[in-house]
Amino acid sequence: MKQPTKPTSQQVTEKSEEAMIEGILEGSPDGIGVVVVRLDCGCRKMAAVDKNGEPASKVIMYRDSALSICDKCQKDNGAFARVTVEFIHWMKPEPDETTRQTIEAKVIGIRTTH
Ligand SMILES: [Zn+2]
Repeated sequence: MKQPTKPTSQQVTEKSEEAMIEGILEGSPDGIGVVVVRLDCGCRKMAAVDKNGEPASKVIMYRDSALSICDKCQKDNGAFARVTVEFIHWMKPEPDETTRQTIEAKVIGIRTTH
């Protein structure tokens, strides 16, 4: 039996992202997870969320092995149209499924409707 895949909750973080996530959570005492947004240009956006799905940190943008984000992002601030993947990385222990779904719907769900 294969479980149906849930793209928003089963994305796997990359090594470089994990280091950023840890740093963000360390600086965000209320954070229970980090929203990870990957853009088509290779830049990333991340922000911690608290248990109510409210932002628990500033939005951080970065680009692997680069001093700054790319020109496109500097212009459009990582426009939603260029997002390729968006998911929440939960802190351990993960909140229960209802909480996760509520927060995902609040943080991600609204913006995926066209
Ligand atoms: Zn970029």
